[in-house]
Amino acid sequence: MEYLKQLWDLVFPKKCINCKKEGAYLCEDCLSLIEINPFRQCLCEKMEKRDKCDNCKNKYLDKIFSAASFQNKILKEAIHKFKYGYIKDLSQPLSILMLTHLQIIEAKIDKSFVIIPVPMTDKKKRRRGFNQAEEMGKIISEATSIPLLANVLIKTKETLPQMELKKEERIENIKNCFEIKKNIKDNVVLLIDDVYTTGSTMDECARILKQSGTKEVWGLTVAREVDQQRYFV
Ligand SMILES: [Zn+2]
Ligand SMILES: [Zn+2]
Repeated sequence: MEYLKQLWDLVFPKKCINCKKEGAYLCEDCLSLIEINPFRQCLCEKMEKRDKCDNCKNKYLDKIFSAASFQNKILKEAIHKFKYGYIKDLSQPLSILMLTHLQIIEAKIDKSFVIIPVPMTDKKKRRRGFNQAEEMGKIISEATSIPLLANVLIKTKETLPQMELKKEERIENIKNCFEIKKNIKDNVVLLIDDVYTTGSTMDECARILKQSGTKEVWGLTVAREVDQQRYFV
């Protein structure tokens, strides 16, 4: 397999998705153009020194950490190519962004945590060949020695793409489509996904986890998208 991969790289060399330079799918120069968020934000985007603002205190998710803004064109393109262009290797630079963010804001993450990726249905995973959240979870797990539990939270129902829905529809769409295979009671869960927008998906995952006894759930994503609809309601 390794030989085949080398041959593949020779015939189709890796090119930076942004500057087209050969060598990596996202070169170091272009990666450095993605500005890492140096602040902590509440689930609702407010800057918060505490963990959650009063409006968000009833949410199931306890904290959210997002490495950078989805407005950044290079990051947007990288996430798009990762998910829909099937470039699995982009999981590496994207995970580096998350790890750097955690370091900058001095998030206290230790070995009492477990990493759980936001799951996709088996059918969708087969179609894409991988779950992007799980791929990033693997790298973060390797870098931090925090165990990755990839099959504890599963998605049993196919849903419409959240991106196409309004906030209220997103909550309805994602409801009751996750299941827990093993209760996580003694660890803080670090829930990983690619983009955080209204937070409906992560909050539903956190709800299911907490129902089965998890005390604390932190979210970690590469990008944070401004919830446009927030400004029209
Ligand atoms: Zn580049
Ligand atoms: Zn808030």
